[in-house]
Amino acid sequence: MSDLYLEFSHSQIGKSLFESLNLPKPPALYRSPNQSLQLPQGRILVASTKNSFALKPILAAFKNESITLCSPNFKQDSGSQFGTLGKLGSSHQVESINIKNNSNQRFKFLIFDATGIAETQDLKAVYTFFHHVAKTIKKCGRVLILCKACTQEDSILSASLHDGLEGFCKSFAKELGKKGSSCNLVKVEKGAERQLLSTCAFFLSEKSCFITGQTIEARKRSALPRKIDWDKPLAGKVALVTGAAQGIGAETARVLSRDGATVIGLDIPANKTKLDQLMQQISGHSIGLDLGTDTAPQELLTTLASQLGLIDIIIHNAGITRDKTLANMPDHFWDQVMRINFEAVVNINQALIDKKLLSERARIVCISSISGIAGNFGQTNYACSKSAIAAYVKHQAKALPPGTSINAIAPGFIETDMTKQIPAMTRQLGRRTNSFSQGGEPLDVAEAISYFCHPASQALNGNLLRVCGQNIMGK
Ligand code: NAD
Repeated sequence: MSDLYLEFSHSQIGKSLFESLNLPKPPALYRSPNQSLQLPQGRILVASTKNSFALKPILAAFKNESITLCSPNFKQDSGSQFGTLGKLGSSHQVESINIKNNSNQRFKFLIFDATGIAETQDLKAVYTFFHHVAKTIKKCGRVLILCKACTQEDSILSASLHDGLEGFCKSFAKELGKKGSSCNLVKVEKGAERQLLSTCAFFLSEKSCFITGQTIEARKRSALPRKIDWDKPLAGKVALVTGAAQGIGAETARVLSRDGATVIGLDIPANKTKLDQLMQQISGHSIGLDLGTDTAPQELLTTLASQLGLIDIIIHNAGITRDKTLANMPDHFWDQVMRINFEAVVNINQALIDKKLLSERARIVCISSISGIAGNFGQTNYACSKSAIAAYVKHQAKALPPGTSINAIAPGFIETDMTKQIPAMTRQLGRRTNSFSQGGEPLDVAEAISYFCHPASQALNGNLLRVCGQNIMGK
């Protein structure tokens, strides 16, 4: 769906008009639909607080020849707040940067490791670093902050300081948004620092272009596979995508196929022709099934068990809206939304687990919504179902067989048929009320889904990731 405001702001006439009227101009966001997630390349500005534990293992795992590390050279006054790169200097090219005299330096990628924070004054290192480098961040730059995912062994003070970085990250993200740049936070449990490769790659790449101000948690889980094919990370995997005929589901099917998976697309029988066409393009299989019926989970299971065997990836994307204010909402609007958006997801997962149809390292991704986080006028049914999905993912994560993981994505305003139905004025508001002043693309959600399914994303379980450009709705 075209966004005329965005298109006009980037046209020749639009550019000068926007400047003379001082109108907010949505930044151009860049995407890479044809390429799988890759490790970062080029110059990365890195720094850490003293006693940090995450940065060195991450950098050691990056390909040495394709990156240059830039390390700020803090002298006298503030130097003692920071950690050192130590031995890494011998395995990577390291440029020492005087960040207090940085007029010519520009950086696209910045990683700050704050996992060592223990006292309130340790936070000052975060301020000092970003205060000096904020103006050096390039357009569409990527800032990644690492902090500690605290456990009961950590002090209340330490846990509070690490959580406090969420406020820092969200605020800095708002300052960076007009340049198309992002700032995200990764909470790392001690022991999970060797499992952050896909997370760093994703948040430093174009694939996360519509994600900013968000926090993700990486926990210590089973070891990563020995060898990861970064060009076809999902090769050999079978992925089921519900609601795959159009919108986010169709883009997800394409992206998972691009990344090597064999895709089974599912959609209502009325959309089967469209689904068949897409599945033909990506050499997938189609299933025409209405998930709103009582018998759907059983029918699906029978088809899967008889024709396709174990499932490695399941994306619960199918969803509907039936908006009405509560006083005017008919029974069936409530029932349909709860059944398709929530009940079908829970029942299908349970049936797959009970019948042992999920493979050893299966990945489940559920689609929630920022409406479920913030609530929305006329959407008591939809918001309730999407909030329930987010909560289900959090609880189910603790109950899954070891190795299996479940995560949720909460899209914000994404340009699809679903958002086409929104009245024009509300649609404009939906697009502008985020840090990038524009709607996201289905691809942005699909890339986040593929990141959760990546073999190197084993540390992610029970997360809710918003793909919303930091929409002002919700927390
Ligand atoms: P869409 O309406 O374009 O596509 C949804 C797909 O699900 C359709 O192909 C539809 O036929 C299928 N579907 C609906 N009911 C089904 C059923 N009973 N059985 C099988 N398939 C069924 O929507 P979209 O924008 O691509 O949204 C995809 C998901 O993302 C939904 O869960 C939606 O709630 C969520 N979401 C979307 C946005 C957005 O801005 N577009 C925002 C937040 C959340």
